[in-house]
This record gives sequence, structure tokens and C-alpha cells, in this order.
Amino acid sequence: MSELKGQCMCGAVIVTATRADPVLRACHCDMCRRWTSSMYMSVPTTPGSIVVTGPVKTYRSSDWAERAFCNTCGSALWYATVHDDHKSLAAGLFDNAANNTMKLEFFSDLKPDGYALTGDHNQIEAVGNAFYAVFYRYARHCDPFLLNRQAKCAKTPRSPGLTL
Ligand SMILES: [Zn+2]
Ligand SMILES: [Zn+2]
Repeated sequence: MSELKGQCMCGAVIVTATRADPVLRACHCDMCRRWTSSMYMSVPTTPGSIVVTGPVKTYRSSDWAERAFCNTCGSALWYATVHDDHKSLAAGLFDNAANNTMKLEFFSDLKPDGYALTGDHNQIEAVGNAFYAVFYRYARHCDPFLLNRQAKCAKTPRSPGLTL
């Protein structure tokens, strides 16, 4: 366990949290790429340990998730699932990415061809993955919690891509 303290680009938002594992995760989905200009790098923290002060603005990016940013400078702060308020803090808030190490890439098959992360780490592809199929079901306007039952999907997709 170690205490993390980070800040946005302008310093108006201060974030503290407790970290269990020194892990970095990257997401290459369409929304993260548009949000960050490349990929969203996050650090897992102990649930309930995050304390935030400063001018935070949130954007409800889907029915089940939100993204937060500093209302002064626009720095990305977190991605959160709204039903449990579970936040994945942006690695860029912390010096040296909190001294964490890259362990997992989400939606590696959605990464642009022109760059790649080096090193030995796990990659989860969007296509053909049973767990991440839930995102596609949701993107197609299905109830994501009907995974093991007959899905009730709208005929018209809500979005041509992933909605996260
Ligand atoms: Zn700021
Ligand atoms: Zn993403």
C-alpha cells in the first residue's frame, strides 16, 4: 500500500488515493482516443480511497459511465462506472505515472496502426472476447445485464462504435 497524490495540469484539482498494486492500464477505445488524443492510461486504486478537491466537471459518456476533467484546464481526471462510483484515475495526474508499470491494454485491436506500447503485458481485444462483448451489446442498445439470457436489442444501433 502506498499513498498517491496527484494534480491536474493547472494545479486546481488535487487527487489523493491509496494504491494497492503498481499497475498501469491503457484503453484504446474510440472514446478514450478522442478524449485523450491517444489512449487513456489509468492507475487502479483502493475502492473508496479517492479524495478529490477542486473544480471538477463530469461528462456522462454513456448510460453507465462518466468521464471527469478539470473545469479550469481540461485535464482528464477519471473514468468511472456510475452504478458503483468506481473511478479509474488518470495516470497523468501523478509524477512518473505513480511509478507504475504497464500491465494491460484494453481494446488493443482498436489501437491505430501508427504507434504501439512496448514491453510484455496482457492485451484484451474487443472482438471475440466474451466479457467485453457486454460493451458491444450495450453499444447495440441491448441490456448489458442480460448476458446469459435472450437479449432484447433495439433494431437500430445507438452508436456505430463502442459506447463506454
Ligand atoms: Zn486544472
Ligand atoms: Zn476506453
